[in-house]
Amino acid sequence: MDGAPVFLDSTERTNFIEEGNHPMKTLNLKVLTLTLSLLAPALSAFAHDHNPAALTQVIENVKRARAEGKQPVVMFDLDDTLINTRERTLRIIQDFVKQQQLSSEEAQKLANLQVNDIRFLMSDTLKDQGIQNPALAKALGDAFLSKFFTNEFCANDQQNPGAALYAREVVRAGGKVVYLTGRDAPRMHDGTLENLRKQGFPVSSPEALLMMKPDKSTDDLQFKKDTFAQVAAMGEMEGVFENEPANINAMADAFPAATAIFLDTIHSPTDIVPEARVSFVSDFFHGAADGSDEAPVQEDAAAAN
Ligand SMILES: [Mg+2]
Repeated sequence: MDGAPVFLDSTERTNFIEEGNHPMKTLNLKVLTLTLSLLAPALSAFAHDHNPAALTQVIENVKRARAEGKQPVVMFDLDDTLINTRERTLRIIQDFVKQQQLSSEEAQKLANLQVNDIRFLMSDTLKDQGIQNPALAKALGDAFLSKFFTNEFCANDQQNPGAALYAREVVRAGGKVVYLTGRDAPRMHDGTLENLRKQGFPVSSPEALLMMKPDKSTDDLQFKKDTFAQVAAMGEMEGVFENEPANINAMADAFPAATAIFLDTIHSPTDIVPEARVSFVSDFFHGAADGSDEAPVQEDAAAAN
């Protein structure tokens, strides 16, 4: 790997891990869980049972390693693992509709889209809506490409349910959180850091580390594979999290002792399936085992919608 990892600014400590010190309001977990269970069929990419107990297992792994005097490490992908990129795509579509001032039936369909209507490929999103307009698809595709990989748009992302609470739980248990993302630093570092902070994720060194690609041309999976040795040297890997089947398999292979968890959200088109030992989840809630009856909802993110 020729690019150095991007370390979070240790001078900008935010102490998100201190309870009550983050900009959260709370919502009853049972209401959220019910809502999520209703959404689950639309979100599922594989017909596979979900296993939230694996989330608890990672926390227990971290505590055990800590008790043994080791430095536990937990590694998370960002896009569609901790962060919901469908919501970012929806904001881009909504901006597009406003700026184009379209009045057609197709524009109305775009304006009515919800987060769960967003597919991994824009072409599939349009197809689902019965939109077959090459000129519109081209203009929307151009808008998407010009905005999706930007500080401006990723700064306002929303997390997948329970993600920040869970990352803080890892840190509280004594773990180091590594965010290993295919986003590239030149286009997205500042927005990513701002967003993680706003969403309540741990961002302070040494308990959190953000690793981004040095440039956009690097292949995501190759970049991640190239970092594994460096991350392994930080301590004992206890949990790895990904939404891309090829990536979670690479992580599971590189860290055979770690609990491997696949986020069953959206992923790029592929025939690869997660290995048998990989657990599936659709969010980061794992019941009473996290010691909390409440889940956070980010105020800024709610207001931004
Ligand atoms: Mg991802």
